[in-house]
Amino acid sequence: MRHAFRLISAIALLVLFCAGLAGGAHADGAPTTLDEALAKLAPVPSDAALVQIPDPGRKLLALRSYVRYGSRIAERWSWTDEQIKAFQGSPEQQALLAEIAAVNEHFKAANPGYEIYVHGTVRSLDEQIAKWNKNESVGAGAEEILAAYTASFGEDGLQPARIDARKLDAWLRGFRPSSRANLAAPGLTLHGRAHAIDFQVMKDGRIYAGANSKQVKSIWRAEGWDQKLKASMDAAGPSFSGPMTNPDEPWHYDYRPPAATNASN
Ligand SMILES: [Zn+2]
Repeated sequence: MRHAFRLISAIALLVLFCAGLAGGAHADGAPTTLDEALAKLAPVPSDAALVQIPDPGRKLLALRSYVRYGSRIAERWSWTDEQIKAFQGSPEQQALLAEIAAVNEHFKAANPGYEIYVHGTVRSLDEQIAKWNKNESVGAGAEEILAAYTASFGEDGLQPARIDARKLDAWLRGFRPSSRANLAAPGLTLHGRAHAIDFQVMKDGRIYAGANSKQVKSIWRAEGWDQKLKASMDAAGPSFSGPMTNPDEPWHYDYRPPAATNASN
């Protein structure tokens, strides 16, 4: 019996050791890839998203957000496909859709010929990652953070073995981008858990004032759609708050679901 126990212990240790190697780490713990070096800093589950951002600048910019959220990240993190599926058709989704419909009714009555258009109620993590990887404002922020990183840590500063997790963590927390990207880092937008909705204005079946930063001044402000939408929100959307001001998005409202009522009510 005792031999058998020792054998099992030895196998267990071997399995643990091999699992460590399969993770890509050297036996001495030094990371062999950039993802592995950065994953040490990214709080779960953001480490898995980071791997899907190939560009090093975009990766650093996302990691900066993840590091700043720290362990609070899990409660804000976007829903999985299963969670999104479970939301479809649920009473919670029906309550959200009913409130959007009420806002639209008010808006249509107040602004004849125009109506509200809402594109989906949940933005999946995959969709967010795809956007992060190609969005222009993220690209500009990525160039800036990469240049600053290189200035601080040298041209070979992104060599996996050269990354000092503690120093990088402090550096990321201290870095301030000169302007904010139009997107939240993947996983962090409230659109990822139906806690934010973009209300676009539609006319004759086409988007008239869209969720588009280039239209903020020329259409939303110039024609007062920000105020008109806000008026309908105040009148018919009690669970919505907003709009978002940083970045300036007059179409974006946060949604706080009404507290769940129990069966006796
Ligand atoms: Zn939004």
